[in-house]
Amino acid sequence: MNEIVFKIIFATLFAIYIVIRGPYDKEYKQIEKIKTLNSLTDKCLLILMTIGLLLMPLIWLLTPFLNDFKIEFPDWFRIVGILISIISLFYFRRIHKTLGTSWSPTLEITKRHQLIQIGVYKRIRHPMYLQMLIWAIAQCLIISNYIAGFSGLMVWIIFYFIRVPKEEEMMTDYFGEKYIKYKKQTGSIFPNIKNSNLLT
Ligand code: SAH
Repeated sequence: MNEIVFKIIFATLFAIYIVIRGPYDKEYKQIEKIKTLNSLTDKCLLILMTIGLLLMPLIWLLTPFLNDFKIEFPDWFRIVGILISIISLFYFRRIHKTLGTSWSPTLEITKRHQLIQIGVYKRIRHPMYLQMLIWAIAQCLIISNYIAGFSGLMVWIIFYFIRVPKEEEMMTDYFGEKYIKYKKQTGSIFPNIKNSNLLT
């Protein structure tokens, strides 16, 4: 398949991603926050994520600068990437619906914050970060470029290992025992098989 076809498909998938997030981003801006961990580290993590998951793909989409780093993946590999990202978009929508107004791009506690433990949050604590990982893997396959493809995965690894301990510390501070219990019963991005029976 022609490279341009993959570019159009990727741009469309990305547009859908933005459309799903849009209303939640708007709502988030209007909600009163009672605690914000707007640290320099968190800001840097968000900038890194924007570079890896948005800027690099945009450079690949719109310019020839990264053409020398192309990987010759077979078409079916890239089509698998498209299918994975479509599935991840359904998951993304479900996560946003479940988390509702508790979603925030940085680490925050809102005025009427509830600890969500249902639906996609029943067995894992970080479905949104799992979705980002799946999206980053799909990005590698679809874009098929050493720089623009793998940048998402690289930044996700840094993001996940720095963000999660801070987020869980904030949640434990605010929700106390409730979050500690939730943590015992769930896995981070993969279900905690050993304790999953506690939830059923
Ligand atoms: N880590 C989660 C949420 C990412 S959005 C995930 O991967 O799905 C980040 C915000 O979500 C944080 O500011 C935190 O306040 C909120 N949050 C995280 N887990 C939550 C939960 N179980 N219930 C309610 N809010 C949660």
